[in-house]
Amino acid sequence: MTSILEELKASGKTGVFIGGDWVECAEELPVVDPASEEVLVGVGLAEAAHAENAVVAAFDASKPWALTPPRERGEILRRTFEAMRAREEDLAELIVLENGKAYPDALGEVRYAAEFFRWFSEEASRVSGELRMAPAGDKRIMTFRQPVGVSVMVTPWNFPAAMATRKLGPALAAGCTAIVKPASDAPLTTLAIVHLMEQAGLPPGVVNIVVAKGSSGVIENMLRDPRVRKLSFTGSTEVGRTLLKVASDQVLRVSMELGGNAPFLVFDDANLGAALEGAMVAKMRNAGEACTAANRFLVHAAVADEFTSMLAGAMGSLKMGPGIDRSNQVGPMINERSRDDIAKLVQTAVDDGAKVVVGASVPDRRGYFYEPTVLSGVAADSEILQQEIFGPVAPVVTFETDEEAIALANDTVYGLAAYLYSGDLARGLRAAEAIEAGMVGVNRGLVSDPAAPFGGVKHSGVGREGSHEGMDEYLETKYIAVNW
Ligand code: NAP
Repeated sequence: MTSILEELKASGKTGVFIGGDWVECAEELPVVDPASEEVLVGVGLAEAAHAENAVVAAFDASKPWALTPPRERGEILRRTFEAMRAREEDLAELIVLENGKAYPDALGEVRYAAEFFRWFSEEASRVSGELRMAPAGDKRIMTFRQPVGVSVMVTPWNFPAAMATRKLGPALAAGCTAIVKPASDAPLTTLAIVHLMEQAGLPPGVVNIVVAKGSSGVIENMLRDPRVRKLSFTGSTEVGRTLLKVASDQVLRVSMELGGNAPFLVFDDANLGAALEGAMVAKMRNAGEACTAANRFLVHAAVADEFTSMLAGAMGSLKMGPGIDRSNQVGPMINERSRDDIAKLVQTAVDDGAKVVVGASVPDRRGYFYEPTVLSGVAADSEILQQEIFGPVAPVVTFETDEEAIALANDTVYGLAAYLYSGDLARGLRAAEAIEAGMVGVNRGLVSDPAAPFGGVKHSGVGREGSHEGMDEYLETKYIAVNW
């Protein structure tokens, strides 16, 4: 067990956190290690009254926090960044335990997550306004930015650290207070981060945590409270759509980071070695449990056989096992349902005529593992090309022309990430412009960067996180018309 989990347990920090207090809860939610299928710890579950108390605490803290000097707000984030880096191995092991991802992925996530606090600690003091003369010369136009207010944040299990810090960093830097609802499958990492934030000087009420089942109605109740002004959601498009409807009652500001169906294009002039390296990152980071994961490999017919066999070789030689053994490269899926859904998608693709090049089976071992899989000859209308696989499965489809590749890439309701490899940068950039996605990796298999705007188009979301644009999501512009 990691020392940070022992610390949380010893200090009773395993549940609901409101107004600076860790609250006793009547009911517990078991958190399961997906590699061993064993319960790690029971986490306190919020009741309706807790959710209301969290809104009150966040609301009461919102004015003093907005008036706290930006530099001071930034320094709390900066100290938490340092604390996260100082305890990165500990935090990474906690992520491995509750989420199952391989240790190198977990360590990468902790570093990525901490970086949001460093970036936004710097942005806190860069919020600016404008002063202009009106064109008619009758007044000055003065604008400045004010925090949106109490923000409800709902996060998924697949990046339990980064999805929390990507929201908390800009919100706190902008002067907003927060209520975080972490995913039931992996709530512990958020608790650990807030534990470190407390040590870094977080005032009571600025961040509150409500551990609750998504289906419990707790979120909806908070969103209907007029003291709440913002919803920031990361998760599936299906749940996002439901919450958008609820958010419309109070006309909330919304940031929605939803599902993806990233195409990975390999043109005939690509450096196949580089494309393989990028493919393994784009597909296998988090064993495919990433919204940005390459979901469809679109490969030029002239290089398809060679690329597919290279990909199958690399996928088939990955070392699978519990992430707590640091040499393992592929961990289990988050839960049994998720693993079974992946197996079903693969079976349907095979029934529709796809050929299994490698993998495609559930190994006979404890834990929710699924073998890294490559499928070729996948039918164009196969379900596996339309749905998020969210697992270690790479379906390969071939194309003949650039126009056909772009049409295939855009043949989805999603538009989060896309990747392409070409030896001709102009050809690559032309394709990048034409692909309907919020983010395109050109000759790269990884797009995430705290200093870059992360987000999608179409059914993949609304708004951007990270970069200076991430701050905008937590700021309102006020215009004052002035005579002087
Ligand atoms: P999910 O099922 O949509 O859950 C996300 C969050 O919403 C969890 O905290 C969940 O709580 C909560 N929730 C579920 N049903 C709810 C409801 N009816 N009302 C209110 N809240 C509800 O997604 P997930 O399985 O955790 O995560 C995977 C999805 O997230 C994928 O689609 C992935 O693409 C997407 N994702 C997107 C991004 C991005 O930046 N675009 C990043 C990461 C993940 P419970 O855990 O208690 O159910």
